[in-house]
Amino acid sequence: MMNCWLGIDVGSVSTKLVLMDDEQSIIKKVYLKTGSSPMKSVLKGYEELFSGTKKELRICGAGTTGSGRRIAAAMTGADVAKNEITAHGVAAVSVDKNVRTVLEIGGQDSKIIFIKDGAVYDFNMNTVCAAGTGSFLDRQASRLGIPVSEIGALAEKSTNPVKIAGKCAVFAESDMIHRQQEGCKSEDILAGLCDALVRGYLNNLATGKKIIEPVMFQGGVAANTGIKRAFEKALGFPIKVPEQYDVMGAWGAAIIAQKKVKQNGGASCFVDISSNPDNWEMKSSMCNGCANCCTLVCVLNNGKTMAKWGGRCS
Ligand code: ADP
Repeated sequence: MMNCWLGIDVGSVSTKLVLMDDEQSIIKKVYLKTGSSPMKSVLKGYEELFSGTKKELRICGAGTTGSGRRIAAAMTGADVAKNEITAHGVAAVSVDKNVRTVLEIGGQDSKIIFIKDGAVYDFNMNTVCAAGTGSFLDRQASRLGIPVSEIGALAEKSTNPVKIAGKCAVFAESDMIHRQQEGCKSEDILAGLCDALVRGYLNNLATGKKIIEPVMFQGGVAANTGIKRAFEKALGFPIKVPEQYDVMGAWGAAIIAQKKVKQNGGASCFVDISSNPDNWEMKSSMCNGCANCCTLVCVLNNGKTMAKWGGRCS
């Protein structure tokens, strides 16, 4: 029987699950679309993660992160539910203990994390501007009729990147449409788009901050070599995309869970959801506890409340 640790990162665009061994190496990972239901994506990802491997493994603990971390934690009895900054920072340090800056771009937000001596000391996060996100790239790729996974290779062919406004998704899109109408080549528009996204990212998140090497680029958008190249051009030095770039948050959550469970003398709250995969649901309701009237989110299994959050009063 092999000891392992589960990490789950439920993002707005994708859900990531990893199985990590005692030495913190990833044994298996799953990356799938979150779609309309984070619960369904957790169940589907879980099934996929354990298919064919489960019998020889013992899950010693679980950690969750991402915007849906509380949902995943309620479902799996996770030992920790950590914010993405901490989870991404921890995983980056486990790849390179000297890392100083982490650039993370996901589906609907982007972050910069500053690290010293293996610990996060500052960060910045952009959740309001769509221009600096993967979903914006997805939309532009689909408008140009190409898969997002091909942006990098196409942008690489560009000899004359066009100038595109990077401050706002609406302006960037209208600039791109304008360039298309002027007959600019797709590769030049895509290279301009990558430059614009990186310019916007650095203006939004890194103004007044020093980006110190080594720099690690992670999150789903790190698959996009056009964005990596645009960062290197803007920063003037190479950046590193770790092998597990797409599951760094889930990996970090697993590492944090391992530490917590070990501190607790090995006691874990983990529950194997494959023994109980049906009848999971979420409900929201208004709290009447005080004048704030907060929206409460409730995770239920077979009608039984597993977790509830969202209220400001007790
Ligand atoms: P989340 O914010 O939900 O955690 P991710 O970090 O997985 O999402 O980022 C999702 C984004 O990553 C997508 O919107 C897409 O732009 C980008 N992406 C994912 N896979 C690829 C790929 N193979 N090539 C280029 N871009 C990709």
